[in-house]
Amino acid sequence: MRTLAVLGATGSIGASTLDVVARHPDRYRVGVLAAHRSVDALADLCKRFRPELAVIADTACEEPLRARLRRHDLACRVESGTDALIAAAAGAHCDTVVAAIVGAAGLESTLAAARAGKRLLLANKEAVVMAGALLAEALAHGGGELLPLDSEHNAVFQCLPRGHADLAAAGVRRILLTASGGPFRGRKAAELAAITPDQACAHPNWRMGRKISVDSATLMNKGLEVIEAHHLFRAPAERIEVVVHPQSIVHSLVEYADGSLLAQLGNPDMRTAIAYALAWPERIDAGVTALDLVKLARLDFEAPDLDTFRCLRLAYQALAAGGQATIALNAANEEAVAAFLDGRLPFLGIAATIEHGLSLAPAVPATDLAAILDADLTARRQAQRMIATLSA
Ligand code: NAD
Ligand code: MG
Repeated sequence: MRTLAVLGATGSIGASTLDVVARHPDRYRVGVLAAHRSVDALADLCKRFRPELAVIADTACEEPLRARLRRHDLACRVESGTDALIAAAAGAHCDTVVAAIVGAAGLESTLAAARAGKRLLLANKEAVVMAGALLAEALAHGGGELLPLDSEHNAVFQCLPRGHADLAAAGVRRILLTASGGPFRGRKAAELAAITPDQACAHPNWRMGRKISVDSATLMNKGLEVIEAHHLFRAPAERIEVVVHPQSIVHSLVEYADGSLLAQLGNPDMRTAIAYALAWPERIDAGVTALDLVKLARLDFEAPDLDTFRCLRLAYQALAAGGQATIALNAANEEAVAAFLDGRLPFLGIAATIEHGLSLAPAVPATDLAAILDADLTARRQAQRMIATLSA
């Protein structure tokens, strides 16, 4: 029996995780549920999954949450704030942590879970982009295992030989990450100037939170995923390629020296990746309909348009630059996407903000948590100034 902490329980990944968990009460129980500030949604989940501990990141929500749970007659403990979140990720109420908080807000709890030796089911790609080396160190220290939830990385994990630390020695030539191309595939920059948040969030194949939906529309999501793959699989950037595949059926591929390409296919439903990571090395039912190849009939592939979707090129650039570039990339992107969603920045201003941020990123790497958080804060301030200029 595994006991889970679901951090980001009220989000899209949180919901898919709890859906799989509910199908296997004999295998999984929920020890901790955590969210940002959606009191009602978190209370409803507590009622259904009966965790020992509920953590709400916003301290102002602690009393309202406690009151709601009292009304349901639930004995669940309630804590609030960032420190409570970090302690819960490392604490005794779980052996498995689902890191499904969006953005840099998930960094410290992800690191804490790794350091404490939990099985880490990682959706929070921003944490890897900011602190890939530190996360690897924390995992080595804790002795737990990381299983990627991001569908592409989950696919790559499934296609790699087990137990090989060195990709080249295992005969791996390239990792091919597939990208749907997002809602604006095929369009040119001039056609993207007046895009609204709702248009950007209307993804053709996946229902996700709004931040990652915008990232998918700019292709920054794939850029973050290239950096994520670099860290998770210890692959140099030149061995990671992006292929646009509009149907989102082939979730990614691994190319071997003998010419073999291994791929993982399935309907676009995050529950497959989640079930795989939860049960690994076993396989369990995820509630996902099997793929009907005859009905599907065809799979298409094309090269990404790096001139229109500049964010993907900027991510490769940041990875090559080293220093604090990937921290700056992530911070500028988070600030720019939030401004775009708020109506304070045009769609094309997202790439402009990130490009500006990269030009200011220090060449010295930030190696410990304090330095990383400091670099993140500096980059956010720079991004905010740039956003103010672009929106004026
Ligand atoms: P979402 O917006 O639907 O949910 C985010 C969750 O994080 C919510 O539960 C929210 O309460 C919590 N949260 C936000 N800010 C917080 C804070 N400051 N402190 C504590 N909790 C906070 O997002 P999502 O789509 O579920 O994505 C979550 C993560 O998973 C992201 O990093 C995303 O890139 C990654 N991911 C998502 C998908 C997907 O299909 N949705 C696929 C792959 C990877
Ligand atoms: Mg993905």
